[in-house]
Amino acid sequence: MKFTDLGLCSELLEGITKLGFETPTPVQAEVIPVLLESDRDVVALAQTGTGKTAAFGLPILELLELDYAVPQALILCPTRELCMQIARDMESYSTCLPGVKVLAVYGGSDIRQQLMALERGVQVVVATPGRMVDLIRRKRVDFSKIARVVLDEADEMLNMGFEEDLEAILSSVPKTAQTLLFSATMPTQVAKISKNYMKTPLEITCGTRNSGSETVSHEYYVAHAKDRYRALRRIVDIYPRMYGIVFCRTRMETQQIADHLSVDGYSAEPLHGDLSQQQRDSVMKKFREHHLQILVATDVAARGLDVNELTHVINYNMPDDLSAYTHRSGRTGRAGKEGISVSIIHMREHFKISRLEKAIGKKFVKRAVPTGDDISRVRLMNLAERVRDYKGGAGLIDNHIGEMTAMLDGLSKEELIKRFASIELHRMLLFYRDAPDINEDAPQRQTDSREPNRYADGARPSARDKRDAHEPRKMTAGMVELVMNVGSLNGLTPKKLMALVNVADRDSSIDIGRINIVKMQSYFEVSRAESQSLVDSFAKSHVDWDGRQVSVGLAGNSRPRPERPPHRSGPPATGGYQDRPYDKPRNASRGQGGPKKRR
Ligand code: AMP
Repeated sequence: MKFTDLGLCSELLEGITKLGFETPTPVQAEVIPVLLESDRDVVALAQTGTGKTAAFGLPILELLELDYAVPQALILCPTRELCMQIARDMESYSTCLPGVKVLAVYGGSDIRQQLMALERGVQVVVATPGRMVDLIRRKRVDFSKIARVVLDEADEMLNMGFEEDLEAILSSVPKTAQTLLFSATMPTQVAKISKNYMKTPLEITCGTRNSGSETVSHEYYVAHAKDRYRALRRIVDIYPRMYGIVFCRTRMETQQIADHLSVDGYSAEPLHGDLSQQQRDSVMKKFREHHLQILVATDVAARGLDVNELTHVINYNMPDDLSAYTHRSGRTGRAGKEGISVSIIHMREHFKISRLEKAIGKKFVKRAVPTGDDISRVRLMNLAERVRDYKGGAGLIDNHIGEMTAMLDGLSKEELIKRFASIELHRMLLFYRDAPDINEDAPQRQTDSREPNRYADGARPSARDKRDAHEPRKMTAGMVELVMNVGSLNGLTPKKLMALVNVADRDSSIDIGRINIVKMQSYFEVSRAESQSLVDSFAKSHVDWDGRQVSVGLAGNSRPRPERPPHRSGPPATGGYQDRPYDKPRNASRGQGGPKKRR
């Protein structure tokens, strides 16, 4: 089927051709003709990323009466991000159709501006339920001409507790309006809305119900609960081109895992509800633009994030229900691309995998947690491939190549490769040199207190964990919070932390504010003006503590961070692990006196 067969006007066809849409996706092929030809209500079971926005958006635009600037279509969706995205999409479909006015109304931004825009006149309103109810209560919106209502991601809206708001909105639009409900899953709450507010809806299922996208494969790794973080690192390290989201269950866990990854040298940042809207926008922007490789997120915060090229979704902890899993995995494998949904489970969670397999009718492939040797091999081959395929010019190297060649004369090709590879991947090779096998069936080994086992549990944190945990909190004015990769388990105390700061930054006297030392890492405040130079000083000065190189970065609640240099294009070429400061191999012993500066 072609778009030209669907009955859309030439202006819309021209608009979507400009966007590169050639053939309708299955949900578009099913939904568009129904909406164009009938007034029948529709319930469409469709995942995110299947092209459902155009499936409802194109017919809505086609059927607008453009001579009247009054609301004729209302699209409700769960989050501000999705709301803005849908409005942007509707505008981009109608670039060749003059006179279309779309307005996004959502919470967290100035309601007066939204009211003014409504008064100027719009035909399509895209709204989050809370803000919409607010506008209805103020009697500032005329819904008498609404002909179509879309409930997008209805299951998510209900999960987020918008049931009452949806009912209030649906009761205030004309009874004659055609209602379209899009949902990835069909829990009872959604069925109830459909029963109460829709007239014998046509049910369209794109793909098997709950089956998840066809382009997503499902994999899982089994490790001891205490090795969960270590397994995560290995999975990230084995996929050098990963560009993905790590899903955690709580805000606190999200923050901690992002901090760990960041301090361990990965391009990772958190996205959760304790961050301000501005911080969330900034993190999402960086992620969308590929300036960030790994987003560590809660389910709620990641809703509405529209990124098509994700290679992986990682379930650091399994979600409690099927619909959350479907939503998470549906973030990858979008727009026809392949994606992998990875779950890290511990021994007692096998049943969760069988339950999901039954529910979505797909086999989950069990993978062994990569060993140090597996990772080294993949990273070395990746390096070899990059060298083989390198197309850039040599630039200034040409001026000096003769001298270099003379210096390296006498080394065999093999020896040269070995040395270049060792230098390029030095820290990774060192880190994994004596790394144990952490698979569930691996022989017993000594526990390593250096690993952040605490977060690996999957269970709720114990009271003690809560006491030990560092919860994101408000900063002292003018200060930002830094995080250091050593904590009380490494013998660190506030006094010793200050000594480390003095060693790293000998030339200035930095004032340190509140200090919070938890097991595996430490948090401390410094003035915003001095923070970046201190982070740089730690990166340059190679201070050792307890047998590991100390590294310091901005803690999550002090972001947005200064931008890292962007990757040139596409997912980062060298993978998450940047071969930057890294844990030393675990045979290093504890408590070796005071801070030492490396030579
Ligand atoms: P959605 O499910 O509406 O969020 O769409 C997912 C992505 O697929 C968006 O980036 C759309 O721009 C893209 N898309 C939607 N329909 C098509 C199509 N027919 N051909 C190519 N890309 C599409």
